[in-house]
Amino acid sequence: MTTQAPLVVIVGGGFGGLAAAKGLKRSPVNVLLIDRSNHHVFQPLLYQVATSVLAPGQIASPIRSLLSLQTNTSVMLGTVTGVDAAAKEVIVDAADKVGLRISYDYLILATGAKHTYFGHDEFSAFAPGLKSLADAESLRSHLLEAFEKAEIEHDVERRRALLTFVMVGAGPTGVEIASAIAVMVRTSLRRDFRRIDPASAQIILVDAGERPLATFSEKLSEAAMRRLTTLGVEVRLGVAVEVVDEEGVVMGNERTRAKTVVWTAGVAPSPAGKWLGTAVDRAGRVQIDPDLTVPKHPEIFVIGDTASLDQGGRPLPGVAQVAMQQGKYAARSISRRVAGQSPLSPFRYFDKGNLAVVGRNFAVLQSAGVELSGFVAWLVWAVIHIQFLAEPSLRFSVFLQWIWTYISGKRAERLIIPVASQ
Ligand SMILES: Cc1cc2nc3c(=O)[nH]c(=O)nc-3n(C[C@H](O)[C@H](O)[C@H](O)COP(=O)(O)OP(=O)(O)OC[C@H]3O[C@@H](n4cnc5c(N)ncnc54)[C@H](O)[C@@H]3O)c2cc1C
Repeated sequence: MTTQAPLVVIVGGGFGGLAAAKGLKRSPVNVLLIDRSNHHVFQPLLYQVATSVLAPGQIASPIRSLLSLQTNTSVMLGTVTGVDAAAKEVIVDAADKVGLRISYDYLILATGAKHTYFGHDEFSAFAPGLKSLADAESLRSHLLEAFEKAEIEHDVERRRALLTFVMVGAGPTGVEIASAIAVMVRTSLRRDFRRIDPASAQIILVDAGERPLATFSEKLSEAAMRRLTTLGVEVRLGVAVEVVDEEGVVMGNERTRAKTVVWTAGVAPSPAGKWLGTAVDRAGRVQIDPDLTVPKHPEIFVIGDTASLDQGGRPLPGVAQVAMQQGKYAARSISRRVAGQSPLSPFRYFDKGNLAVVGRNFAVLQSAGVELSGFVAWLVWAVIHIQFLAEPSLRFSVFLQWIWTYISGKRAERLIIPVASQ
């Protein structure tokens, strides 16, 4: 690091922030990446941690280690609580320091999104979402505990509630979790209990919309629907969830007793818009200019899930590819400005396609006019997901784990880890 070089502060070491940091590797700038967590998580495989296929360490890497060879970059473990755009400072809580002010020449906000309960925050205590490794580990323990409790439960009604799993939201995450549980109860757990039959579990996927995987074509939604039904998942569409409490859910005016409810229905952006006091869209995402900067602040970029940008009359989706491409673009844009070169042309997202897995051996793929469902799509899904893991060691380890799970039907990560007592 040199002292005179401009300082680029990146907030968030997820898909967007990490891509931006790596893109600045050869730039004559100093980079400081701040994240409240010490690791980068490959969110698309969180559901496999939640359903005991993979260990947390197989889908996450320490950000510090990912950037250790990048000598112009340092990493800080801290939570950003605000931005003073006039003073060009970010405000951070780190270790025992509260309200630390860090000056920047350029700022890239890549703080992602969290799940939202659409005004029903009281649901959160009974219907956790899946966004972090902690969420995935806690869901894994909860799922496994449900079977343990059912095994010793004499009351039929209570046992049924323990063996009822409700996923609220039939987007890719809801479909992936529901189908993974359906496979787990028929394979890995099948022979392990004496009093209950795990395969008798009721797995319900509910959505207020008219089809699962609504961001895919109707044909692929239908293929996913058929597959879910074959796996024994009950898909309830056009049904709103009105109540979630300790007894279960009320949907379509009908109560379903369920001890496991997972919220996969929606996401809300980070508070970046509030920090900047700038215009946001209906969901709260920062409205950015086509060069990914905030209006009137050419030195501040906002990227990924926390940004809102229209392309072809529609907002870009909250997916990893958008965040990564925007991260690379922000890095190139800053490099050119520092070098005194002409600005880049506006950002264009190149859509490589969408994939979602529906249990073992089956995925749906939509890419450049090609629509595919079944085994080949599943192979493509597996190859792409391995390829995008952050480190070669993770790719190797996940590949081996998948082969083992595929051949044996066993899941290696069936540990219930209680929260440590004080
Ligand atoms: C369960 C799940 C499955 C998904 N599956 C897919 C998929 O199959 N394909 C796909 O393309 N996309 C998928 N996505 C979406 C994809 O993961 C996101 O679009 C992508 O992560 C967005 O990248 P980002 O950089 O904007 O945010 P993130 O990757 O979420 O990173 C945000 C980072 O900012 C940090 N942060 C947040 N607030 C602060 C703060 N105040 N201070 C410091 N640090 C902060 C966080 O710790 C995090 O590291 C999935 C998401 C989830 C949750």
